Amino acid sequence: MSKGQSAAPEKVNVALGERAYDIFVGPGLIARAADYLEPVLRRPRTAIITDETVAGLHLPALTQSLDAAGIRHAHLALKPGEQTKCFAELERVTAFLLEQGIERSDMVIALGGGVIGDLTGFAASVLRRGTDFVQIPTTLLSQVDSSVGGKTGINTPHGKNLIGAFHQPRLVLADTGALATLSEREFLAGYAEVVKYGLINDRDFFDWLEANLDAIKQGDAAARTHAIVKSCQAKAAVVAEDEREGGVRALLNLGHTFGHALEAATSYDARRLVHGEAVAIGMVMAFEFSAMLGLCPGQDAGRVKAHLKRAGLPTALGDIPGTLPGAEALVGLMAQDKKVVDGKLTFILARGIGKSFITRDIDTGDLQRFLSEREA
Ligand code: NAD
Ligand code: MG
Repeated sequence: MSKGQSAAPEKVNVALGERAYDIFVGPGLIARAADYLEPVLRRPRTAIITDETVAGLHLPALTQSLDAAGIRHAHLALKPGEQTKCFAELERVTAFLLEQGIERSDMVIALGGGVIGDLTGFAASVLRRGTDFVQIPTTLLSQVDSSVGGKTGINTPHGKNLIGAFHQPRLVLADTGALATLSEREFLAGYAEVVKYGLINDRDFFDWLEANLDAIKQGDAAARTHAIVKSCQAKAAVVAEDEREGGVRALLNLGHTFGHALEAATSYDARRLVHGEAVAIGMVMAFEFSAMLGLCPGQDAGRVKAHLKRAGLPTALGDIPGTLPGAEALVGLMAQDKKVVDGKLTFILARGIGKSFITRDIDTGDLQRFLSEREA
């Protein structure tokens, strides 16, 4: 491990002009965070927002690094979980940052998974009309997805992520070592998003994942770093082309129209289904639906399903515990997804692995037939 920790991390640049930033990926980055923070800090002080679980596991390494560099810091540890992405906690975070005297030229650090990253990023975006922030993502999902691209926000009773802002971080430190403390279920949920990048437009990456799944699951640092770097590069490329989701960024929603409907159908109950699991099932469905429509070889749909299954992810409606609403209700839930424009469903379908495309030309009758065939 000590050998890995001293190696130079990989770097991915998110090319967004004056909002461009670097993502560093590798083991041991939290313990060396000050080296990366110093160049972006205007004075030696910062405030850290984290959750209680992550604080217990990874905050000491961060604060030791800051202490050693003479950077003053304060932290706020919130309750872990999706409920924390709400107005009440936004108020708490902004009040804390103001009490700490964080100025517009200071830097806020988000240490944690996507919940902490989204909430802290949004708090930073409104603090004094926009304060810089750094992401230190500690889940695989946040390292490959939520920390890239600048979407920040909170949930409301009306739905998820409906209040938010585009606010790019100044820097991302993705410490692959932090993943060692993650539960297997949370790790796999992030892995579904990794597979997604191969399925969207990189068949070679999907082939590589098939060959390296065991190494990735067993914690091989080089394999994990490569998987994260490829994922960040893939998302960064899409975001650089379409920062505010007017076009190609929608490709990142592969598996998500089905997935969001399944999350809604299970009342966002993490005991039944977490987001990445919903996406895994959703991607299989997107490929199988594409195959049913004659767009995609059935063999490719089979490979997608087999890989996700071998990883340990759910791949079918029957894998979800408890009963689900019927096909008609599921189509109704899809229609409520925020990606609906003028009442038309936006779908990401595929002509094969690595050949995904955006379509708004979906016949709801076909969709209903497809889902009816899959009802448990
Ligand atoms: P999360 O932040 O809730 O983390 C999952 C759980 O893992 C939490 O209980 C957390 O305490 C724990 N945890 C975090 N790091 C750990 C570690 N290293 N070891 C042990 N436990 C650890 O969830 P998430 O899956 O990281 O992110 C989900 C959120 O991300 C959702 O709110 C979703 O909307 C958002 N998201 C945002 C974007 C975006 O573009 N902004 C993209 C995808 C998802
Ligand atoms: Mg997702």
